[in-house]
Amino acid sequence: MHVSKMTTVNSMDEMSKIQDKSLVRSQAYIDGNWVDAGSGKTFDVTDPATLHKIGSVADMDASDVQKAVDAASRAFESWKTTTAKQRAALLRKWYDLIIANSKDLGRLMTLESGKPIGEATGEVAYGASFIEWFGEEAKRAYGDVVPSPIGGSRVVVMKQPVGVVGIITPYNFPNAMITRKVGAALAAGCTVVVRPAHETPFSALALCELAERAGIPPGVINIVTCSGENTPAVGKELTTNPTIRKVSFTGSTAVGKLLMGQAAGTMKKVSMELGGNAPFIVFEDADLQRAAEQLIGCKFRNSGQTCVCANRVYVHESVYDEFVKRFTDLIQQKMHVGHGLAEGVNFGPMITERGMHKIEDQLKRAVDSGARIVLGGNRPKGLESIGGHFFEPTVLVDVSDDVPMTCEETFGPLCPIYKFASEEEVVKRANSVDVGLAGYFFSRDIGRVFRVAEVLEVGMVGVNTGAISTEVAPFGGVKESGVGREGSHYGIDEYLNIKYLNISL
Ligand code: NAD
Repeated sequence: MHVSKMTTVNSMDEMSKIQDKSLVRSQAYIDGNWVDAGSGKTFDVTDPATLHKIGSVADMDASDVQKAVDAASRAFESWKTTTAKQRAALLRKWYDLIIANSKDLGRLMTLESGKPIGEATGEVAYGASFIEWFGEEAKRAYGDVVPSPIGGSRVVVMKQPVGVVGIITPYNFPNAMITRKVGAALAAGCTVVVRPAHETPFSALALCELAERAGIPPGVINIVTCSGENTPAVGKELTTNPTIRKVSFTGSTAVGKLLMGQAAGTMKKVSMELGGNAPFIVFEDADLQRAAEQLIGCKFRNSGQTCVCANRVYVHESVYDEFVKRFTDLIQQKMHVGHGLAEGVNFGPMITERGMHKIEDQLKRAVDSGARIVLGGNRPKGLESIGGHFFEPTVLVDVSDDVPMTCEETFGPLCPIYKFASEEEVVKRANSVDVGLAGYFFSRDIGRVFRVAEVLEVGMVGVNTGAISTEVAPFGGVKESGVGREGSHYGIDEYLNIKYLNISL
């Protein structure tokens, strides 16, 4: 592992290098206006790599949310009557503007999330792909004509937008978790009130500035920023306000359960994209080098802070030692840790202190019960002067099956590698957790590919690849990883109600 030589960074100076200053918004956006919180309060946003303040934004509360919901409700009356073609044209303009501004959006994202600039601009393109995709999908939200069992009658099925949608997103994908929801909602004819993560509100506000420039009408998109302190009250309003007809949330399973419970009172439609604990299985017939290379991205992308990150790596005992060596060699060659804006860096800080404590605790508990660290395990030397939440890519062996590192999502750069002896055994261990978002395995046996893919209890399977996210495929999980799907043609259905007409001629 290499450590960046750029050991002092002034985050404010880096913010000032954003070329289009009007992308850096500190007010929230309600009914087509940039507004302060009703209370006048603001909260600070910091660069997780340096812990420097990079700005502050409006700290809204439940009364501001009510204003946003009212605006979204008024806008829904006209937005739902626009044609799919008109909505598609606006979404296309928004997409073009996001792509045209990807450099600034990437820099902004790196500064508020710590994500290396290459990954950040990659996320901007990925995020934009949902706006493009759903703009096109808007035109294909067809209904059905069903053959009626009764003579002289017709059965017609139509799809209609659900109404105002409340959206809550996490910090790890400050752009794409918003576009994946907002793109589908707007395409369907819904209007939205979005509460972005308090760690990363600037990316959401910049997206909104571009939506305004694209000509998305007032009230169709509303962004309500708030601090961690105001989050429970804002979340409560978004999940209990009767005007909101759907809640779409991405975040942890614990918060998802709370929000789903709150939404039950008014029987809202819900989409819950929650936590994972992905198994990554390397069978004895796998291409080991390819598996090791894919695991680098699958485990360490965004410093391990993605819901589909490999969490538990299982390697067949006959290739175990060779795989561990190949993988640790690759980490040493390829990983460059440092500030996300520094040249060559592909591994940044943890976004939150909370996340840092979680991995340190998981590591300690694994080691206390017999695990061995074969690489990493510390805060990296040489970056002390930068000041942020950095932690080395870490590989462990001899980790037991009952420690938190195995049973829970890590959401950080810890990589336990376990040994297994048979297909049956590894599938059982892979399925032994409460969540089921993504799973990965490497094998060149076509029979095994189908057998294992069919029995893994997850919503998404990567076979001989560690990269599965794309706008054209349904993203989502089973078990406690949530309900609903995002992206793909299935994604728009989450924002549509089905109405059926029985017409007697
Ligand atoms: P989190 O659940 O703590 O927070 C997610 C969001 O919810 C944040 O914006 C947070 O401020 C907000 N929130 C927290 N409490 C709330 C409340 N009472 N009411 C309303 N909002 C509330 O999760 P996190 O640690 O920020 O994010 C990481 C989690 O998100 C991981 O579990 C990860 O797997 C999951 N995630 C899932 C997907 C997916 O598509 N399935 C994608 C990204 C992240």
